[in-house]
Amino acid sequence: MALSPAPETQTGKLVIRNIGLLLSGALEAPILDADSVVAEAGRITAVGRQADCDISEARVSIDAHGCALTPGLIDSHVHPVFGDWTPRQSQLGWIDSCLHGGVTTMVSAGEVHLPGRPRDIVGLKALAITAQRAFTNFRPGGVKLLAGAPVIEQGMVESDFAELAAAGVTLLGEVGLGSVKAGYQAQQMVAWARRHGIQSTIHTGGPSVPGSGYIDADTVLEADADIIGHINGGHTALPLSQIRCLCEGCARAIEIVHNGNELAGLSALRFARELGQLQRVILGTDSPAGSGVQPLGILRMIALLSSLGEMPAEILFCCATGNTARLRKLDCGIIAPGRAADFVLMDRAQHSSGADLLDSVAKGDLPGIGMVVIDGVVRAGRSRNTPPAERVPELLG
Ligand SMILES: [Zn+2]
Repeated sequence: MALSPAPETQTGKLVIRNIGLLLSGALEAPILDADSVVAEAGRITAVGRQADCDISEARVSIDAHGCALTPGLIDSHVHPVFGDWTPRQSQLGWIDSCLHGGVTTMVSAGEVHLPGRPRDIVGLKALAITAQRAFTNFRPGGVKLLAGAPVIEQGMVESDFAELAAAGVTLLGEVGLGSVKAGYQAQQMVAWARRHGIQSTIHTGGPSVPGSGYIDADTVLEADADIIGHINGGHTALPLSQIRCLCEGCARAIEIVHNGNELAGLSALRFARELGQLQRVILGTDSPAGSGVQPLGILRMIALLSSLGEMPAEILFCCATGNTARLRKLDCGIIAPGRAADFVLMDRAQHSSGADLLDSVAKGDLPGIGMVVIDGVVRAGRSRNTPPAERVPELLG
């Protein structure tokens, strides 16, 4: 199958039927009573029972053979550089490998691994605009990567944020990775960014690698960024008492990452559940970083948090899809008409002790991916990275 790196949208009708389990991505109703999905021009047009959907004249038809369908997974925290290359671990093809882990959208937390990245204000703005453009024009493996996330530095003024916004920049890189470390300074720049429609994420916890910084709970609360970036550290976490303060002390997104402290991640999930605020929990990997690239990182987070966190797997799939889409204002992440046709078809891995897909994930096993669809285009067949699934979907043409 030819995989074009250019943005591509399905032109004709896509029909997926015989879906055994339809996970919606929405916490209000994580499991849908439906077995078919129809999409046109890259958007979902119908979800329901096959008898109730118009499945005629499909250009591409997929028989799910009883597999589960979920929205494409969203990695809320990555550090891309350019193309499908990362100098951090000297890897090529890392984004395409994540596609084989079910990830269809990634959000940059800053292009900080660029060798010699500029730290002067005109330079950091130029880099952000270039990265935004480059990843809009080039999708490794078809994965949608929202990039162009400048790391704020001292000396920036409101007009810098206005200029970035006018140029198409919608994100800030992790606050705290540059020279702005004090809460009051970060607060002002985060507010400027927000006023111009730019979303912000703050680094939380100890330094990730030499040159990175330490940000405690008081600073995170004072800065008031939209996303509490890797609340479980990257990898060094804040004391659990401070993580609880962050969950209780604000309403911002609680981002738990693979490259963080697992105990702290499980604790943050527990705090959010106790507060009745699971809608704030989103997942990321923080890859590539010192801990490397995890092609299955989001699936591993789902399995870890479901099994050790004793939470139904379908809830964690919502944290990896619909929650992130809502908090990051994305048009994907939910299986509903009008949304982007980004899907992952998966099933229980062969020889899992779990009774079915959800039970296997709740027991800590990873699912087997059989197909990944982005904007209505089949981008991957049977995953080269997950354990093999018991059932795989079939592309009928
Ligand atoms: Zn960080």
